[in-house]
Amino acid sequence: MSTPTIEQVTAALAGVQDPEIKRPITELGMVERVDVGADGAVSVTVLLTVAGCPLKDTINRDVTAAVTAVPGVTGVDLTLGVMSPEQRGELGETLRGGQAQREIPFAQPGSLTKVYAIASGKGGVGKSSVTVNLALSLAKQGLKVGVVDADIYGHSVPAMLGVADSRPTQVDDLIMPVPTASGVSVISIGMLKPRRDQVVAWRGPMLDRALVQMLSDVYWGDLDVLLLDLPPGTGDVAISLGQHLPNAEVVVVTTPQEAAAEVAERAGTMASMMHQRVIGVVENMSYLPCPHCTEEGKDHRLEVFGTGGGERVARTLSERFGYDVPVLGSIPLDLSLREGGDVGKPIVESDPAAPAARVLAQVAEKLSGRGRGLAGMQLGLTPTSKF
Ligand code: ADP
Repeated sequence: MSTPTIEQVTAALAGVQDPEIKRPITELGMVERVDVGADGAVSVTVLLTVAGCPLKDTINRDVTAAVTAVPGVTGVDLTLGVMSPEQRGELGETLRGGQAQREIPFAQPGSLTKVYAIASGKGGVGKSSVTVNLALSLAKQGLKVGVVDADIYGHSVPAMLGVADSRPTQVDDLIMPVPTASGVSVISIGMLKPRRDQVVAWRGPMLDRALVQMLSDVYWGDLDVLLLDLPPGTGDVAISLGQHLPNAEVVVVTTPQEAAAEVAERAGTMASMMHQRVIGVVENMSYLPCPHCTEEGKDHRLEVFGTGGGERVARTLSERFGYDVPVLGSIPLDLSLREGGDVGKPIVESDPAAPAARVLAQVAEKLSGRGRGLAGMQLGLTPTSKF
């Protein structure tokens, strides 16, 4: 077999993506040197963005596999180096597209990324569980999905996605979102804290800065969908989001309970006051399928939290806003949903046939069915007769 050429090896390396940046390593200045010996032995030097890069094993594996697959290669000697501050600076510039000024890419007029904020009136209704499962379902459909965990009280999203202890890598002054096994990238307000156990006691301006940082200082690349897990209620983060991303569309999560529905209506109204469109309601913990009856093939539902909350919120918001706010789905209580969240494997991945997973996948389909692009985008104008 003939000796492989440097071009062949470089072409193979172009098929290797940096796991965080999700672009070919050859485009990022990460391939420093390629040598091909007469005997077909290849030595490659790849520069990591930072020393101790958490994903160096992945890069090692992918580069070795890609080069080994080139016909005529008899061995691969991979050296992993680290970029100099200058090289990181150049990479940062490449990623920013030559723009010095940082801005929120999703707020630009030409942005094709659909932004969905997942809101609730109070905590514990399953807002984060809905967020991560929607993210995974959308990613399973082949979409590029990012998640911003802006829930200052909970920030449970990283744990639910199996990256509780991960810290984002910084390249120049850009932060790389943390990749997860499911292909979804995530950044959490919890990752901006120096320590995991630290309490976030931030007020308005700090929270605003944190939100802007997660949107503009993070290299999100070209996303199809960005999901934001908001803190419960109608607080500072919801106001900041409305100011910075008025084109975000809002999904309200509630339980069937009267008290939960009432506060959920308020969260929805708040979004509308910030000129965001509320596109639907997800009712969670709608019922518990009676385990004994299910075994016998009977459909007996225990309405643990009462009934009608989702419908009530949808009706009230539709009347209030003058457009249709549908119930997008009613998710039953399911042990495996809770367990999946606890072990970092959301139910749509760990038990996709479960009724709760199927409803979540259907909600995701309704969202992706709305397409990517500018159609239906809010203009950020206030109709004077709205309230
Ligand atoms: P929130 O983000 O609204 O505070 P979480 O998504 O963190 O709520 O959910 C609170 C707890 O309830 C979590 O332990 C989660 O696993 C559990 N949970 C949420 N929805 C369900 C459900 N449909 N069935 C079983 N457990 C659920």
